[in-house]
Amino acid sequence: MSFLGLVTFAERIRGRDAQYDKRRGVPMSQVIVIGAGMGGMACAARLQAQGHKVTVIEQAPTWGGKLGRVEHEGHVFDTGPSLLTLPAVYRDLFLKTGKPLEESVDIVDLETAFRYQFSDGTILRMPGVGIGNSADAIGDALGGSSATEWRNFMVRAGAMWAATRTPFLESELNGLRTLLALSTRVRDLRTIAPQKTLRSLSEHYFTDPRLVTLVDRYATYTGSDPRQAPAALATIPYIEQTFGAYHVSGGLRELGRALFDRCVGLGVNFKFDTDVTAINGSAQVTGVTLGDGQTLSAEIVVANADASAVYQNLLSELARRMCRSEMRKIRKSTPSLAGFVMLLALDEKTADLDHHNVFFPQDYDAEFDSIFGKHPSPVEQPTIYVCRPDDPLMSPEDAESWFVLINAPRHQPPSGCDWHTPGLVDEYSNRILDQLATRGYETAARLKWLSTSSPADLESRTRAPGGSIYGTSSNGTSSAFLRPSNTSPLPGLFLVGGSAHPGGGLPLVAMSAAIVAKHIGHAN
Ligand SMILES: Cc1cc2nc3c(=O)[nH]c(=O)nc-3n(C[C@H](O)[C@H](O)[C@H](O)COP(=O)(O)OP(=O)(O)OC[C@H]3O[C@@H](n4cnc5c(N)ncnc54)[C@H](O)[C@@H]3O)c2cc1C
Repeated sequence: MSFLGLVTFAERIRGRDAQYDKRRGVPMSQVIVIGAGMGGMACAARLQAQGHKVTVIEQAPTWGGKLGRVEHEGHVFDTGPSLLTLPAVYRDLFLKTGKPLEESVDIVDLETAFRYQFSDGTILRMPGVGIGNSADAIGDALGGSSATEWRNFMVRAGAMWAATRTPFLESELNGLRTLLALSTRVRDLRTIAPQKTLRSLSEHYFTDPRLVTLVDRYATYTGSDPRQAPAALATIPYIEQTFGAYHVSGGLRELGRALFDRCVGLGVNFKFDTDVTAINGSAQVTGVTLGDGQTLSAEIVVANADASAVYQNLLSELARRMCRSEMRKIRKSTPSLAGFVMLLALDEKTADLDHHNVFFPQDYDAEFDSIFGKHPSPVEQPTIYVCRPDDPLMSPEDAESWFVLINAPRHQPPSGCDWHTPGLVDEYSNRILDQLATRGYETAARLKWLSTSSPADLESRTRAPGGSIYGTSSNGTSSAFLRPSNTSPLPGLFLVGGSAHPGGGLPLVAMSAAIVAKHIGHAN
């Protein structure tokens, strides 16, 4: 098709969207949301506020999914998200469903977003907000031309954000339509460099390998390998430094509590400890079947459960055939990495650590080879992330609650890593503590309590297959188009949350909820 042909075709599609907008106002529907994760609850709140009757069914005894929490003798640990970015997405959700977010939770901006410790001992304290501030901090810590290089990289990342935000993140993903929207703006296509990887982009901009390492880490925010993930992930540090890095007073699960309360206040009905075993209907959704055999009717089902589990296990044979194209996309993509979590209750405060601390290894490639290679195994010398909230609601006085997260291969016996191997979890957590000690942070003398959670534990708690943190990864330059869509080929079935478009992480799952709610529309 000629360039002019592409433009005309794109105009026609835009015209159809405009017609769709004019038809706003649909009959009130019974909606069932499978899963009370953040994406599921965000969608439930929006749909109930739009006049539908929503029931959320959750297999676990509580809401929040991966946004978990553990408490031990006055120590409070977030066991999932520990960093909030783009809080504006939740501000929009709370405003559109009632009162402002700030009336329910206390969002705390962090003066230092991250303390990075490189393998050569260099320490970089990245400020909480401001690209200029970050460039200055980089220049002070790394020297040379690093500050200028960072500024140039961020200019490119900002242009990428401008080009991708609306067509990719805030819209339903439709491979052809999205490509058309971009192809009418050739400059945008050049900016996002669809054939480049994140690693190759940063190698183009940086002369200091430590900056390449720093940017590599952002690929893991989507569960990916920087050597395979698209260059457009440069938007993640841009977002962090432009819009800030935040904590939620009392722990990030408080954001989930506020959302659960908002849902209940709006009249959303919740059923906990209740498993959905089937989505009923072959040509159109008719409801769900529960673990005890009971059926519930609904015109609309929104699945917050993992997309691969939905398409593989919950549909009838006929419906599965109808959804073959979505399964094909999932099979072509690489699952996201998983995480090995350690919770440490410690006596005394550590003087020189910040809220978020990252210890980089000497060989970052070895980490990605261990996770995504042919023979996945726990990373020998991994990047160690320590979240140590300076929050009086999360630790007794003169004590600390550490959340330690290590990127890890998924639980995938017998072909991949088996996290149930006897002794593996204990041996691995000792190894991590030893490595922290060699980096200057000995914990043995202060350690009061230690708890671990492997990818297998996350899988059994939240049904994330293999304990993958973000559903599918962004490995592969066309990965965005392989992510399951928010609409499905089965009429009445929608997908929301980290395993569907636009991806995982607290802001994106709430964006996916907004896309689904917009598609379903207001009840008239
Ligand atoms: C260790 C870790 C660290 C993270 N760090 C960050 C971070 O710092 N910042 C950030 O923004 N994000 C982070 N994330 C990612 C973030 O937690 C997720 O992307 C987000 O919470 C996922 O929300 P979701 O809507 O996809 O639902 P999920 O949390 O995946 O919830 C899905 C729910 O569906 C339920 N369910 C599944 N199947 C069924 C069924 N058949 N019947 C009934 N219920 C079912 C599950 O029990 C679960 O409650 C982290 C995640 C983890 C695990």
